[in-house]
Amino acid sequence: MQRLNFTLDADAVQLLERLADKYYHGNKSQTVRAALESLATHVGHDGWVVAGYTPVQLTDDIACHTCGSPHHEGEVLYRPVFERGQSPQALAHIPAEVWLDCPGCVEERFTA
Ligand SMILES: [Zn+2]
Repeated sequence: MQRLNFTLDADAVQLLERLADKYYHGNKSQTVRAALESLATHVGHDGWVVAGYTPVQLTDDIACHTCGSPHHEGEVLYRPVFERGQSPQALAHIPAEVWLDCPGCVEERFTA
């Protein structure tokens, strides 16, 4: 355990007190800890994230990697391009399997 000193403005102090009272029986240290853990989950972790997609015209029938919908020869699906980054969905390794997403899943990923 280590004692930390830091300064908060009045709004932050009020927020901390409200959250501590409501969820942690007034324990502010526990509240700050929970807030940090929640932030870390939200910000995500280091890994490979999808940075974009390249279109691929199918030469075979294949299912969308994400939703499993069937697609046929001649249709255009999208292959993800990975780069290092932080995200709650970050992958530890670049996937080895064939990964093609349908246009619907690509749009959803970038509007979510
Ligand atoms: Zn799909």
